[in-house]
Amino acid sequence: MTTPNRTTHIRLTSHPEPGTSTHRFPLRWGAATPKERGPVIGSVTNPADRNVIGAHGGAYSLYRALAISARAMNPLARPDLTNTHPTAGIGPHPSWFDPDRIVSLDPWGHMAGEVFAEEIASGVDIRPTIAVTKARLNVPEILAAMGAKRLSPDGTVLHASGDISVTKVAVDPVWHLPGIAQRFGVSDSVLRRTLFEQTGGMYPELVTRPDMNVFLPPIGGATVYIMGDVAALTDDKRRIACRVHDECNGSDVFGSDICTCRPYLMHGIEECVREAQTGGAGVIVYNRKEGRALGEVTKFLVYNARKRQEGGDQASTYFERTECVAGVQDARFQQLMPDVLHWLGIRRIDRLMSMSNMKHDALTESGIEIVERVPIPPELVPPDASVEIEAKKAAGYYTPDGAPDADGLAAVKGRDLEKF
Ligand SMILES: [Zn+2]
Repeated sequence: MTTPNRTTHIRLTSHPEPGTSTHRFPLRWGAATPKERGPVIGSVTNPADRNVIGAHGGAYSLYRALAISARAMNPLARPDLTNTHPTAGIGPHPSWFDPDRIVSLDPWGHMAGEVFAEEIASGVDIRPTIAVTKARLNVPEILAAMGAKRLSPDGTVLHASGDISVTKVAVDPVWHLPGIAQRFGVSDSVLRRTLFEQTGGMYPELVTRPDMNVFLPPIGGATVYIMGDVAALTDDKRRIACRVHDECNGSDVFGSDICTCRPYLMHGIEECVREAQTGGAGVIVYNRKEGRALGEVTKFLVYNARKRQEGGDQASTYFERTECVAGVQDARFQQLMPDVLHWLGIRRIDRLMSMSNMKHDALTESGIEIVERVPIPPELVPPDASVEIEAKKAAGYYTPDGAPDADGLAAVKGRDLEKF
């Protein structure tokens, strides 16, 4: 029975509903058919059907709670999925049926309305965790590339107006906890306990419900932008250009010049357009991992620590300053990143626009071949970003021109706080 928020008592989900010793919809990760795998059910209105920990919408579930608190939303509201189905067919691919290949998203997430239509029609609260739509992008850097004759419109991928036709995909994280634990080399129980403790006890089910193996974490997911024919992604005869980008709001959106994020992203889009125009496809994966997944507050604190340290902002202490503030140099841990590419069925990337060894190694170790790595063109590195890029080169990032030596590194300085 579905119930709105009650004022008389609270229904805890930390233990199974009385009388429900077995799940009505058990999840068998990697099973051969969607029916055998089972739907991901994070319903908060019908606790007996729940087979995952957490709630749909990731961090946005908190805003939904505010909307309901403010009486702006009916807690029983269910999505009407009419006409929301994907604009492009993606999968199923063999990778979907390997329980270890994809562990951080639900491969059936965009097809939930279709493959579980019967269950939805019978009243089960099943929601898509992936959405596939179409769009056009228009960014000044691509207009500049057209002006400089590096790109010409073809009327399909790139239009005379500078618009780029894309398929775009929003992906909410769905974690199969045993698979996540395996990727990080820890036991399932240690992972669950750490997630429980480090979220301040936000999800007691992590430690009380071993019968639930899947978690909808309250974090951002990924957006994928595909240029060209989606079918090219799984065609070995066609080329693929790809940039896997981690969110950097300051640079990506506002053009802050302390890092190379937006220039590298735009270079990635340009290369993707070029590949799509010659019969291949381009893929941009945009992961919500702000500030190396440490968050923007930590990131801005690090900027101040870098600029105010003795000797000013310098490449030689770039990673050290981050660790001083955050306790770790980087929390992006690219182990989960390849999942979305496996979901798309990609087996080879002809041009990877990235200098990160962590990204490269995570992709190749997961079985994706990388033919060529494309560094950021030096002319695209903004004035204050040489500290970051030279520090990364010295730390072993891919660079065909060689990394700076100790003296060279010490000479790379950023702008003083007084000069902004
Ligand atoms: Zn950045």
